[in-house]
Amino acid sequence: SMTAKILDGKWLSKSLRQKLRERAAILLEGGIQPGLAVVLLGDDPASKVYVNNKVRACEECGVKSFRHALPPNTTEKSVLSTIAALNADPEIHGILVQTPLPSHINMRRILESISIDKDVDGFHLYNIGGLVVGNSIFPPCTPYGVQLLLETAGIDVSGKNVVVVGASNIVGKPMALMLLQKEATITICHIKTRDLAQHTILADILIVAAGQPKLIVPQMVKRGVVVIDVGINRMPDGSIVGDVDFDGVRKKASWITPVPGGVGPMTVTMLIENTVHAAERKKL
Ligand code: NDP
Repeated sequence: SMTAKILDGKWLSKSLRQKLRERAAILLEGGIQPGLAVVLLGDDPASKVYVNNKVRACEECGVKSFRHALPPNTTEKSVLSTIAALNADPEIHGILVQTPLPSHINMRRILESISIDKDVDGFHLYNIGGLVVGNSIFPPCTPYGVQLLLETAGIDVSGKNVVVVGASNIVGKPMALMLLQKEATITICHIKTRDLAQHTILADILIVAAGQPKLIVPQMVKRGVVVIDVGINRMPDGSIVGDVDFDGVRKKASWITPVPGGVGPMTVTMLIENTVHAAERKKL
């Protein structure tokens, strides 16, 4: 029996944030401080935690953050005018709207209103189209972070069987597109997939973003698999677990991400990367 090596997102984030701080300092010497606007609608407690994490990471890297907390009953028109003002503000290089949005708001309409030059979450249709043709300005943060974790560990995806479990617009689908661009053979599984294990057992690299604790157990993976656990599930006792039975699967895997400390910190770091990148683009 073997024990997987850990893909340490916390450690990698730390070293990336150091470099981002240096890039932000160079911009500041030229009179530009990278600025990120975070729009939060309503009072979803998980969203507040995510926004706080993002604001803290900005501070750590010398990026100025602008928080726009709007009440839950804010009209769509009013959200759109907030975004229009941010689009026009030269101090703002990146705009993100924290999801989920209240049901009276049309999410696509909001995301499409963000300037494509400030779309640091990468959710605008223009950026999604860029992913499809292998040329996006701002890759979505979670898949971008996963790609960097793999690259940094020297895990080449070209020609590999990559199985992505979960097909959301923010994780599963863009993840699949990004690794297709890196020449992997991609399988995307979702809730309607019959016999999930039949697919996961073939994975050289298994990426799980379903939001189901212990969805992936050791019998479902082959020996030597690389496992990326994107899931964040809060258990009744308050602890956070991923979608993978970590203790079981790590005995068969060659590499595995822990939860917490794997993909999570990378997501926030890539948001800062995209924001600094947005400020650098503007300078040119
Ligand atoms: P969604 O709920 O939007 O998507 C989950 C996807 O998984 C859907 O395609 C769903 O199918 C599919 N799915 C759910 N259950 C199963 C199952 N039993 N078998 C196969 N497929 C299944 O979630 P997100 O993509 O937004 O997030 C996924 C997880 O990742 C969550 O735990 C979330 O908290 C976490 N997350 C973590 C981030 C990080 O930084 N680490 C960032 C973003 C998300 P269907 O839609 O058809 O039901």
